[in-house]
Amino acid sequence: MSETERREQSEYERRAARRAAIRKKKRRQERNLRFLLILFCIGILLIAGFSIFRFIKNKTKQPVMKRTATPEKIVDTPPDYDVQLLSVNEYSRPGIGLEQVNGIVVHYTANPGTTAQQNRDYFEGLSQSGETFASSHFVIGMDGELIQCIPCQEIAYASNERNEDTIAIECCIPDETGKFADATYDTLIHLLAWLTGRYHLDTEDIIRHYDITGKECPKYYVEYPLEWEQLKEDVRNYIESYGVLKTPEETEQMQSKTGE
Ligand SMILES: [Zn+2]
Repeated sequence: MSETERREQSEYERRAARRAAIRKKKRRQERNLRFLLILFCIGILLIAGFSIFRFIKNKTKQPVMKRTATPEKIVDTPPDYDVQLLSVNEYSRPGIGLEQVNGIVVHYTANPGTTAQQNRDYFEGLSQSGETFASSHFVIGMDGELIQCIPCQEIAYASNERNEDTIAIECCIPDETGKFADATYDTLIHLLAWLTGRYHLDTEDIIRHYDITGKECPKYYVEYPLEWEQLKEDVRNYIESYGVLKTPEETEQMQSKTGE
């Protein structure tokens, strides 16, 4: 073999080796690509499967019942209350019928140290001053005294868009914290327990002004949500302790209302 032939031979071998290396690299890249594609498909299948599983699970799940603690008893006597109805006027007692009671709204007066009588008289005074629209069915004072300002068959101006289907209770407060005095609290629990039975409501239908509009009312029970939960628990306990078993008619009425 001549020198030229040998050189051509080795050049040929080098090229062949390079081609082989390129082919090998290409095969490796293809293999990696296939692997990634398979991983991607598995991922898509897993996500699709999980979504279908969730969809079927949600479809077959029982609807969540909002009402979980419908009291088995009712409190048949209200706390003592003083009826001092406001005169019918456009600012505090519009005289519009309240056709359905679906809830009870708890408020605070935001006016520390004022009495139930003063707050009731303020509502009455609006008929002359016309300074704003405001009122409440009931006002509870710091000594637990209770005044009714508006008949329960009429609306009050207290709870914005829920005026049409709720009863409103204003609670007086001794100081800026907005915490109800013990006597106020006791009357409130009794009143709520009685109204709950009277209107065939659940304790979850007892709401704060805050729950309607986001207003900080009643302040203390907005700042301390656990205290609010405790308040509803206290109503349940009151009904359990002082209530009488519902008559079959009352039970039926409540069942038809709640759809249970
Ligand atoms: Zn309020």
